[in-house]
Amino acid sequence: MTLMELNERIRKCRKCRLWKGAKTAVPGEGSPKAKVMLVGQNPGAEEDKTGKPFVGRAGKFLNKVIAESGFNREELFITNLVKHRSPDNRMPLPDEIEACIPYLEEQIEVIKPKLIVLMGTVAWQAPRVKDVEYVKTIHPSAAMRFTKMRRRFEEDFSDLKNLLY
Ligand code: URA
Repeated sequence: MTLMELNERIRKCRKCRLWKGAKTAVPGEGSPKAKVMLVGQNPGAEEDKTGKPFVGRAGKFLNKVIAESGFNREELFITNLVKHRSPDNRMPLPDEIEACIPYLEEQIEVIKPKLIVLMGTVAWQAPRVKDVEYVKTIHPSAAMRFTKMRRRFEEDFSDLKNLLY
C-alpha cells in the first residue's frame, strides 16, 4: 500500500454520509517519511475547496507555530481524524469517526511516524499504535482565539523536538 493508493481510496470513500455534502475528501499531505504526524478534527470550507489540510485561518496559525518550533511544514505529515468536511462544520458524529479511523491507522502504518500530535478532543479519539508516542494538545482554532490556550499550544509544539531525540 502506498500513500497515493490510500489517498485514492479515501477520495472515493462512501462509508459514511459526509461525502454527500463535501466537494472533495482531504486525505492529508506532507512527507511520506515524516517523523511527526499532526492530526486535526476534519476539514473546513477552505480545505474542502482545495483538498489540502489546514489551509484556512487555523492553518495559517498552525503554520506559524510549526515554523517557530523549528519544523518545516513539508517534513511533517498533516491530516485529520475524519477526512471529509461536515455540514455547517458540525462535529463529526461517532459513526462518522468510526468509519474513518481505519484510514488514519493505514496512514500510520505506511508513514511510521515516531510522534503523533492529536489536536483537539475529536483527534484525541485516534487509535493508539504500539511504538508511537502521542502528544495531546488543543485544536489550533481554539488556540488562536484565546491567549492561555495559545500559550499552551505553542509550548506543546516547542517540546516536540525534545521528544524526538
Ligand atoms: N480544522 C481541522 O480540524 N482540520 C483542518 O484541516 C482544518 C481545520
